[in-house]
Amino acid sequence: LLGSAVTALEQLTRVVSDFPSAGVVFRDITPVLADPGGLMAVTQALSVAVTQPFDLVAGLDARGFLLGAAVAVHTGCGVLAIRKAGKLAGAVIGKDYSLEYGTGRLELHPDDVPAGARVLVVDDVLATGGTAAAACSLLIQAGARIAGVAVVMELVDLGGRARVEAATDAPVVAIC
Ligand code: AMP
Repeated sequence: LLGSAVTALEQLTRVVSDFPSAGVVFRDITPVLADPGGLMAVTQALSVAVTQPFDLVAGLDARGFLLGAAVAVHTGCGVLAIRKAGKLAGAVIGKDYSLEYGTGRLELHPDDVPAGARVLVVDDVLATGGTAAAACSLLIQAGARIAGVAVVMELVDLGGRARVEAATDAPVVAIC
């Protein structure tokens, strides 16, 4: 199962140098998602990556929305959108976080989170960990419990795992 996801990622990920800024090697998984077998393999792998039970999936803006929704349907859960600032229409809570260069802000509709929901956080790439850590903090603030953080790819050299583990005790799992 995991093997076929790793194979799809190795064969189909588009590696783009100097995007979105000089010095960044961008790992673009959109070709994996565009491939039926690739999408299924990655969805299945993310769905079983974390052994803790979960009732809700949170997808992180923006490729995490595609993956999160697929995992939610596959596992019979609902899905939350954790979005960049200014996109959500209802009452939001927000969290600022630092990126490699500058800062970002994520927002969440707390009213969409049932009290005590066990949430699986899903994204494509774990880089510095700022995005996933901020998402976990927001979910906890909204009354959720983090079941785990599942990503397609972890850029180990950037140390993001430690940053996420500072925000939650839940397991952080990467397919590759
Ligand atoms: P970070 O907050 O530094 O862990 O960055 C993770 C977020 O930025 C994810 O939502 C990714 O989609 C995106 N990201 C950061 N670095 C890369 C990269 N090298 N390749 C692809 N996506 C990246």
